Amino acid sequence: MARPRCCRHVDELPAVRHFKPQGIPLHRVPEVLLAVEELEAIRLADLEGLYQEEAAARMNVSRATFGRIIESARRKVAEAIVTGKALRIEGGDFEMPNMRTFVCTDCQHSWQSPCGTGRPSECPSCHKQNFHRADGEGGGQCGHGHGHAHGHGHGQHQHGSCCGRR
Ligand SMILES: [Zn+2]
Repeated sequence: MARPRCCRHVDELPAVRHFKPQGIPLHRVPEVLLAVEELEAIRLADLEGLYQEEAAARMNVSRATFGRIIESARRKVAEAIVTGKALRIEGGDFEMPNMRTFVCTDCQHSWQSPCGTGRPSECPSCHKQNFHRADGEGGGQCGHGHGHAHGHGHGQHQHGSCCGRR
């Protein structure tokens, strides 16, 4: 499986993915596209008030990479607010460590399901029950949607090392 960049960890997906200026029909509002990991960077640095080192460790990226993400994110948000554009939060290049990956033994279909939702009852592709966890470890430590493990010694988890965990 090709992975252009190493997994940027995002704890949770935003509840609202689309903001637009009031009173203007959507089709007449230009959009700014904010990647999910850019929103996560804003959440960590500006909402939680983490230092960039901490925020970078939480997202499993180097500080330099985090700096680029947050800079781009802030520029987009500023652009949307200042020039009256809509903001859509979509896509990006990240992975959610709280997602579990399953693989079907029968049809080789693989899919992801968030932690805390219980084990899927069947393969979404062939509807059989012969599937198993593909990501193996980490199954026991799924929280219920909030993976805010502070002071967890993630500092040594440098960019580039995490793709070797499989
Ligand atoms: Zn299947």
